[in-house]
Amino acid sequence: MKIKFLGTAAYEGVPAMYCQCKVCRDSLKTGGRALRTRSQALVDDMLLLDYNADTVCHFLQYRIDWNKVGSCLITHSHSDHLYPLDIAILSTPFTHEHRSLRFYSAKSGYDKIKEQIELHQMQNHVEVSLVKPGDIFQIEEGGFKVLVLKANHAAETTPVFYAIERGGKRLLYAHDTGVFYEEVYAQLKNFGRLDCISLDCTGCLGIGWDWRNGHMSLRTNLEVIERLKKEGIMDEKTIVVSNHYSHNGGQTYDEMVPEMAKNGIIVSYDGLEIEF
Ligand SMILES: [Zn+2]
Ligand SMILES: [Zn+2]
Ligand SMILES: [Zn+2]
Repeated sequence: MKIKFLGTAAYEGVPAMYCQCKVCRDSLKTGGRALRTRSQALVDDMLLLDYNADTVCHFLQYRIDWNKVGSCLITHSHSDHLYPLDIAILSTPFTHEHRSLRFYSAKSGYDKIKEQIELHQMQNHVEVSLVKPGDIFQIEEGGFKVLVLKANHAAETTPVFYAIERGGKRLLYAHDTGVFYEEVYAQLKNFGRLDCISLDCTGCLGIGWDWRNGHMSLRTNLEVIERLKKEGIMDEKTIVVSNHYSHNGGQTYDEMVPEMAKNGIIVSYDGLEIEF
C-alpha cells in the first residue's frame, strides 16, 4: 500500500495568505517542505482522500493519472477537504472524455456533492454514496475495504475519518479530528492492526495549549498513540505520520522535525510518499 500526501495544511495553508506571523515569514523564507497546500492524499494511485480547492494544483504538480482514480472518500464538508463547486469540472465543456468517479461522504458533504451532480447533470458518470460512522464497505476496483469512524470535529460538517485495508495492509487517515471517541477504539480493534497512521496535528508541538477537541497536536497525538498501542491496534512497527498543519500551532517544518523524531513520528510535507 502506498499513500502520497498531496497537500498537508489546514484551511489557510502554510504560510497562510496575508499572514505576517513568525511561522509564516520563516516558512516563506525557507521554502521547500515548509510550504503546504490544503490537505489531500492519494492511496495506491486509485483512491483519493478529500477533494478541496487545491485539487487542480495537486493534479498539475504531481501529474495525477485520472484514468486510475475511481473513488474519493470525503472526511467532512469544511472547504479545505471538500470544495463542491469544483466537481463541475467533471461536466462538459470543462472536461470531455474521462472515466467515472464515485464519492463517499457523510450527510453534509453528500448533500453538497449530490446538488452539484444534479445541477450539472453528471448522474451517468459521477456518483455519491452516503456513509455513516460504523459502516464498513468495499470498493470493488482495487479491492479496498473501508471502515468509517466518527471524528471529534465540527458537528455541522458531519465529520468522519477512515481506516482503509488493501492486500492485508491497513492505513488510518485521521483528519480532521481531536482525540478519538471511545467507540472508535472498539471499531478499530475489530478492523485489525494498523500498518500506518496519519494523525491530525494542526496544533504542531502543542506548546501552551494541548489541542484536545476539533484538532490535535503532538501532545494529544501521543495520548492517542499510547491508547492505540494498549489496545493492540498499533505497535512499534506501525508508521506514524503527523499531518494537517497550521501556523497557529507555532512551529515551522524544521522546528518540528527533531521533536517529532524523538517520538518516532514523521512530519508530513507536500509530496511525501510512504509505502508499507
Ligand atoms: Zn481541515
Ligand atoms: Zn501566520
Ligand atoms: Zn475541518
